[in-house]
Amino acid sequence: MKHIAVLSTGGTIASIPGNEGRAVAGALPGEDLVARTELQGRLKVQVESVFQKASNAIGASEWKTLAEKCRQLVHGGGVDGIVITHGTDTMEDTAFYLHCVLDTREVPVVITGSQRVPHAMGSDAYANLRQALELASNDHAKGLGILVSFNQSVFSAGFVRKVSSFQLNGFDAPGLGPLGMMDEGVFHLLQRPSMLHLLPIPEKLPRVDILPGYGGAHAAMAEAVLESAPDGVVIDGLGRGQVPLAWLPALHTALSKGLPVGICSSTFHGPTHESYEYPGALHELVEAGAIGISHLSARKARIRLALALAAREGDLSAVKADFDWRFAGA
Ligand code: ASP
Repeated sequence: MKHIAVLSTGGTIASIPGNEGRAVAGALPGEDLVARTELQGRLKVQVESVFQKASNAIGASEWKTLAEKCRQLVHGGGVDGIVITHGTDTMEDTAFYLHCVLDTREVPVVITGSQRVPHAMGSDAYANLRQALELASNDHAKGLGILVSFNQSVFSAGFVRKVSSFQLNGFDAPGLGPLGMMDEGVFHLLQRPSMLHLLPIPEKLPRVDILPGYGGAHAAMAEAVLESAPDGVVIDGLGRGQVPLAWLPALHTALSKGLPVGICSSTFHGPTHESYEYPGALHELVEAGAIGISHLSARKARIRLALALAAREGDLSAVKADFDWRFAGA
């Protein structure tokens, strides 16, 4: 019989009714959740309630704890799969951190949560957890990186995003779709994800902030962030990686001082590219030292830039290489 470790961290999937009629996310222990998945003894499941938090309270120190726990479980042997239950609001951040640091070739790691509380009519809590357990016990889930299992769809943590604040199909990989699906306990694996190489788990994650680009952006916000001494910045750029005109003076000053700046695209899919020759276009900023980042949302790019900065100790060309996709067809 396959042996699955469940690490519960809180979120809606672990909610109980609050005194004022709303939900208290994270209050339900993992054991109670697993007890209702109706697995009928088909899997041996061990549960650890690692945190009982809403996911807006999960960040760098919790990511490190989870990554180290997963490594201990893998190195300790005897575990065939790992399931992490998590609030959906920051599930894509936790999943992507783990995706950057964990090798899943021996033991699959699957994250899930729910949009509806367990006590709601038609809750997805137990169905999502059950599908995640079934996926984590499937040998075809090995080596795909961290998987997000939700509403019978299976996504790569590299591309998944929360796309609905409330509906049961809350996650998608825009423009790419799921890797596969779960149906009656069967994992239908339809495509394998491209992945970036693994990075070490740092003792302390550097501070990387996100500057969201938009039409009419004022200089003041960029100045405030760039002058506040972050370790790095990710610009959620416009289209192919353009930056609001008003930000250029502060940005060039920061780049000239060696601040690591990554520029990704705020579009839902497609690479950044040095296509243009006008002020604020990606080429100008790459010439000044910025790194163009493709195929990662700003939230994911921020995590990878922080991990890369920790690993490369100031070597920006090595940091740049940490964003190199090596496609099979390249
Ligand atoms: N607010 C909740 C959280 O992220 C949402 C959820 O779990 O679905 O903790």
